[in-house]
Amino acid sequence: MSSSASEPVVMTAGPAAAPPLVDPFGRAISYLRVSVTDRCDFRCVYCMSEDMAFLPKRDLLTLEELDRLCTVFVERGVRKLRITGGEPLVRRDIMSLFRSLSRHLGSGALDELTLTTNGSQLARYADELAGYGVKRVNVSLDTLDAGRFRQITRWGDLAKVQCGLDAAQKAGLAVKINAVALKGVNEDEIETLLEWAHGRCMDLTLIEVMPLGDIEPQRIDQFLPLSLVRARLAERYTLDELDDRTGGPARYVRVRETGGRLGFITPMTHNFCESCNRVRLTCTGTLFMCLGQEDAADLRTPLRLSEGNERVEQAIEDAIARKPRGHDFVIDRRRNRPAIGRHMSVTGG
Ligand code: SAM
Repeated sequence: MSSSASEPVVMTAGPAAAPPLVDPFGRAISYLRVSVTDRCDFRCVYCMSEDMAFLPKRDLLTLEELDRLCTVFVERGVRKLRITGGEPLVRRDIMSLFRSLSRHLGSGALDELTLTTNGSQLARYADELAGYGVKRVNVSLDTLDAGRFRQITRWGDLAKVQCGLDAAQKAGLAVKINAVALKGVNEDEIETLLEWAHGRCMDLTLIEVMPLGDIEPQRIDQFLPLSLVRARLAERYTLDELDDRTGGPARYVRVRETGGRLGFITPMTHNFCESCNRVRLTCTGTLFMCLGQEDAADLRTPLRLSEGNERVEQAIEDAIARKPRGHDFVIDRRRNRPAIGRHMSVTGG
């Protein structure tokens, strides 16, 4: 309806936009990682035990509930959503969540919808993901040797992941490879991974193994400081420091010889908390404000208590007000215990 020229123009304010989520240290929360399942078709040795007990279905948020919660976060200033797990692509009907969340890309409320996957289901889903506005995927891959791959993942099939990578690139998705650096396991393969990834126009990020879950003593021995890996790589390559800050734990260099980007995620040797802009939601609706701390908030109860979002918004605000300044991962060598008892598949990697 348009007003005539003679009528006074009355400016009516629309509903006030909800204020963004800012923690007590002034960090705006703009990035939400959402684990949509604790299940996975792999059993990576540093991530899960072989006989993992999974959650009963009734404890999981439905896809509609996940969409509702994500939408609340988007309305409160989250600009980037990363879907993870467990393995996100093994959750039944997961494409419907991507489809519904893609409306926030369309409206401009969200800058990025992305996912972290082991790649096993990418051949099936890459085209659909691209259709829902996903532009980039992180694929976790620690080795290019099929036997080693089987050892690390226990159940994984490297050929299937390679088909997934082909499909992702064919669908136009930018791929970043995430590789956990493991002493005595794949440390001799880092250069091969680098040349391979950059040769295929994929970024590579190396991750220090973190003491999460009930780690076996050997896991502690597999810790490989990335400072050492970087020093070794610097003997062969020219690593030009990049200023690409994601608010996350990765620091990037450009490898002059390959032209590709290489990231280092060093939670054990580098404190990256000062710029942390993220929180993590589990598939049961628990919000972790810090990967390396136990404090968490239950969002499922307020979500299910009413159809309106007031209660859950209040619970989110209360949680963000408790976001800690930083984390402290320590491997307790005397007692062989990790600092954080939950597995990565629980928090969502
Ligand atoms: N299934 C998906 C995948 O493979 O990427 C998403 C979940 S997985 C838990 C996310 C990432 O966490 C993977 O790159 C995995 O290697 C990493 N991860 C799991 N446990 C870890 C640990 N203890 N230390 C370091 N990285 C870990």
